[in-house]
This record gives sequence, C-alpha cells and structure tokens, in this order.
Amino acid sequence: MLRIPNERLERYLHLRREFKEEKYINLHPIQRGGVLTDAARKVLLEFGDGYSTCDWCPPKTPRLDAVERPPIAQFMRDLAEFLGMDVARVVTRCREAKFIAFTTLGEPGDYVVLDGLSHYSSYLAAELARLRIKEVPHTGYPEFKVDLSAYAEKIEEVKRETGKLPAVVLLTHVDYLYGNLNDARIVGKICKEYGVPFLLNAAYTAGIMPINCKELGVDILVSSGHKSWAASAPTGILALKEELADRVLARSKITGDWSKRKFGLKEYALLGCTVMGAPLLSLMASFPYVVKRVERWQEEVEKARFLVEELERIEGMKQLGTKPKQHTLIHFESDGFYRVSQTHKRRGYFLYEELRERGIVGIQPGLSKHFKLNTYGLDWEKIRKVRDAFFEIAEKYGLSSS
Ligand SMILES: *Cc1c(COP(=O)(O)O)cnc(C)c1O
Repeated sequence: MLRIPNERLERYLHLRREFKEEKYINLHPIQRGGVLTDAARKVLLEFGDGYSTCDWCPPKTPRLDAVERPPIAQFMRDLAEFLGMDVARVVTRCREAKFIAFTTLGEPGDYVVLDGLSHYSSYLAAELARLRIKEVPHTGYPEFKVDLSAYAEKIEEVKRETGKLPAVVLLTHVDYLYGNLNDARIVGKICKEYGVPFLLNAAYTAGIMPINCKELGVDILVSSGHKSWAASAPTGILALKEELADRVLARSKITGDWSKRKFGLKEYALLGCTVMGAPLLSLMASFPYVVKRVERWQEEVEKARFLVEELERIEGMKQLGTKPKQHTLIHFESDGFYRVSQTHKRRGYFLYEELRERGIVGIQPGLSKHFKLNTYGLDWEKIRKVRDAFFEIAEKYGLSSS
C-alpha cells in the first residue's frame, strides 16, 4: 500500500495565510474586489461541508438554481435584476461563463470577435469551444485604447471570409492590463445592427460599479465573483437576456442507448449543477453589501485619481492607459525605480521588498519598470499610507519628486 509520510500530511493541518487583509495593505490587482464581507466569512463556516446547498434540493426540479432553502432561486432572480438582465446563473468562474456562451452559441469554426486586450481566458474559452477569433486592435503607448468603432469592420471581415456572422462579439469592459474602461454602448449598438450576440466581460466591473445591461445593449454578461463580488473562489456570473436563455441554458436531450435514461431538466452546458457549496453562499451573503457599494463607485475612482496624481510627482513615474482614470486598476511605468534596480543588489525585487517592509504587498515581486496596482476598497488613510511609502522609497534611493 502507498503511504504518504505523516510529516508531510501534518503540513496540511496548519495552513495560514500570510497576507491577511487586517495585517497588510494588499494592492494586488486581482484581489481588491474579492475581499469578503464579515457575513460572507461567517457563511463559509456555516456551509463549509461538501454539498451543503443540497439539503433541500427540490425533488421535482433537482437543480441548484431551484433550491429555495437557502434562497438560491431568489438570489438568481435578484442577481439578474441587479444587472438589468432577465436570467442569471452562478458558475465556477468568469472564464467558464464565457466558455458556456461560446460553446452554446457557436458551431466549430465560427468566429468570436474580441478586443486585443482580452484576458487570456477569453482566447482559451474560444479555443475549447473550437471557435476562431478575430481581434479588434488597440492603439499603442501610452494609451492602449481599443478602437471600438473597428468592431463593425471586424464583423464585416468575418462575413466576407465565412459568409456568416460571428457567433459572439466580446468586449472586455475594463481590461486587466491598463484598467481602461470601454464604452459598452458603442459596441452594443454595432452588435444590434448586425444582430450578433454581444457579450460583455465585466470581470473587473460588475460587482464594483453600477451596470445596467439594458442601457448598454448587452446580451450576455459574464463576471467573476472572486474578483469583483466580495466572494470566495470559485464563483462566476453568467447573466442573459431572455432571448438567449433557450440556447445558452438549453436542457439536456441525451438518452442512454441501453438504459433509456434522460435528464431533461438539467442545463447541459452547466453540466447540471455548478457551485454547490460555500463559495456560492459567500457570493449570496455579500450581495446586499455589493448592491450598495456600487453606488459609491465615483469615490473609488477619485481615490485612484488622487494616487495617480501624487505618484506621478515622483521622478520617472507615469500612469499608462487612458487619462484621467475611470477605474481603480492602475498601470504605472516607473523609469526612476527601474534605474535604481539596475544597481541594487536585489535588482527589481527591491521595490517589492521595500513596500513589504512598510506593510504593503501586491506589487508583483521583481517588477520595477512597469507594475500594476488596484486601490479598490482602500480607505483614504490607506491610500495616503501607500503614497507615503512610495515617496519614502523614492527619497531613500535619491529619486527626485515635485
Ligand atoms: C480576472 C479576469 C478574468 C478571469 O476571471 P475568472 O473568474 O478567474 O475566470 C477574465 N477576464 C478578465 C477581463 C479578467 O480581468
């Protein structure tokens, strides 16, 4: 019999997170919007056991979205309403939501038109769905702005090439590289003219800023619970207009050739049920808070703008992407810190280490020429602490500031 030594098994009994929210200011771009509420932290324990959502699975409609205790069915309806959509489901991740949309709306060989700043998982979701992609270009340094009007040209290009419209058009609402906000309305209008389903990737927006899909002309919204909804991983959101629900949430038609078994209630692209435990409950427990916090978005943007304005006073610091910031994810170019790294014994790691000594984490270790940070949810006091830390480090290494 194979045996794993006890010393090794022991290690799994004392897992601790070093960068706890109470102890560090964490600027990691992907982590700010996923910090849990106290209610969500509590519910994780309450619903931590295995299939904890399934105690009251209704025997006539045995499906996660039909469960009334806890109120999952109600939550799916509220979630849809909150986004200005007709139907919502919780899936494991934003990327899974994209894959589900792609695979149910496209035939192998069809096209997805997407912005050239799309997240890698948008490409991979298309690949797994056996679709091809056509990219909408963006401008170069320093703005990196997606050319939204070019969506029409790219749809035309697909039409000429294949004689068919693209299966789906995807826009990344806020991209993960520069934190640029795109006006979804423009692409929504183009998609409507062509009659193509418009998918908005709101991984960085829904759950932290107000979004109304009806106003934006969005047919499919995907988002990430662990990125932007104060929920645990894995949680993703798939919200749809009624017209697409029949296709995207189509029921299973397969029959056992020998047993004749059927599963006609199950939504096959979801493989029946999705998040059947604690992460879903964390998303639900944070929902009342999320509904309110999106109203405070403008102040979050102000904090981001303040930090940009301050840090740009340091020699060689420059915010990339469009200005002024319309989102809290910020990409800095920092020629001054880069110059310091060239002669520092710790090389690029010095910046990470200096910040960490000051209780600030989340900048990718090793980076000094370009780095990203996210101010979402930090109060003014913490924002000023971050500012002061950067100035201290600049001063220590002889960089000037204005
Ligand atoms: C973070 C991110 C994702 C990934 O979200 P998951 O829920 O982890 O799949 C997808 N798209 C964009 C634009 C992102 O920023």
